[in-house]
Amino acid sequence: MIQDGVKEKVQSAPLKRHITPHRPRPRSRSRARARARRWNNWVPRKVGLLSWRVALNRLPVLTALARRNIVSPSVLCPICGEAPEVVAHIFLECGLAQSVWEMVSQWCKIQPMYSFSFKGLLEVHVYTRGSALFMKALHGIVLIAIWCIWRARNDMVFKGVKISLHKLVGEIKAKSFLWIRSRAKLQSASWYSWTSFDSGGIGL
Ligand SMILES: [Zn+2]
Repeated sequence: MIQDGVKEKVQSAPLKRHITPHRPRPRSRSRARARARRWNNWVPRKVGLLSWRVALNRLPVLTALARRNIVSPSVLCPICGEAPEVVAHIFLECGLAQSVWEMVSQWCKIQPMYSFSFKGLLEVHVYTRGSALFMKALHGIVLIAIWCIWRARNDMVFKGVKISLHKLVGEIKAKSFLWIRSRAKLQSASWYSWTSFDSGGIGL
């Protein structure tokens, strides 16, 4: 199902556990969490809405459809086929998602992202060292990655489009450059500085 020889890697990828490097003090952490729950206006409305729906468990994943008696040949994840398709699997546990977060972390030059819950994933930027602008950009990138993963999943399920990990990560970089750069008014950010995530060059 997955191109570029990714299938083997995805299926064999172990469940990773990572410790985030920086934890703000309790008071500043609660303020940061409050900020994290606010709408991120650096991404399109449709992107923020998707994560809001996921957080409320309102995504039409196969297990949710089965509970509503909507018949499907299988409730297994259509990407890896190894576990029932639930929100936590698609965005956290699936080998594809783990590979995406690993590559996004490398690109953004941060410790590997990991969370035990979807809501925790939306707060990963709170525990990452950097300026407020950097944290907001990272939050936006996480939202865009979630949107791209779900879109790739839908294209595979409904159109038969095979998933390529490298194409998916490339799309996350391109969409985030297009959307965040203009909304955040990061006019000095070049495609080169974005793809190498040079925060000084980007203006974060
Ligand atoms: Zn899967």
